[in-house]
Amino acid sequence: MTFLGKIRQAKKIIKEAIEKYPKIAVACSFGKDSAVLVHLCQQVKKDISIFTVTTPFLFEEALEYKDKMIKKYKMNIREYKRKSGPVGLWKTDPDACCQYYKVEPTKEAIKDLDAWIAGLRKSEGSTREECQHIEKRGNIIKINPILDFTELDIWRYLAVNKIPTNPLYAKGYRSTGCKPCTHKEKDERDPERAGRWTGTGKCGGECGIHTQRLK
Ligand code: SF4
Repeated sequence: MTFLGKIRQAKKIIKEAIEKYPKIAVACSFGKDSAVLVHLCQQVKKDISIFTVTTPFLFEEALEYKDKMIKKYKMNIREYKRKSGPVGLWKTDPDACCQYYKVEPTKEAIKDLDAWIAGLRKSEGSTREECQHIEKRGNIIKINPILDFTELDIWRYLAVNKIPTNPLYAKGYRSTGCKPCTHKEKDERDPERAGRWTGTGKCGGECGIHTQRLK
């Protein structure tokens, strides 16, 4: 499929999902894929509901970027965040840490929704290869409109549409997340998410929001 074909396909999936599921929202992590996803969704429905889950451990520049993007794109967004909790759990049990700071707030974010739209891509890594454009996950539908976009497609879309990017990419990070668990690219031949949870059994894996039943 061509680059423009993938854009058309994504917009069609988003449009049909919005028509079918009135209670729908877009998940936005403020990484590069989310920037593309939100841009596509806002072209279909300017005031579409968006939610973001943040943790106390994000990079300062990522938080500044988040605030800038919310303002620039006039996002209709809600933020979900644990205000307190264990510090350093990522060293001993990153799965438990992600469960507490990411998965549980995401459950809260989607509890009243019929469907949510996510920015997963098949080429990000083995954990995402089997994903489908539309998935029934327990009692909620998950929509993945940019599943067929490659990493290059994402950067191409950002460039063509002059969308600002999280400054961490310019500093050598290829996939972004919490500061203690996000590392710079070591080798361009590594999988895209190799810098996530590097040195742990969770390396290149998932925080849990895309693998667990949330509702
Ligand atoms: S990415 Fe790291 S710091 Fe963030 S919630 Fe998961 S384990 Fe904790």
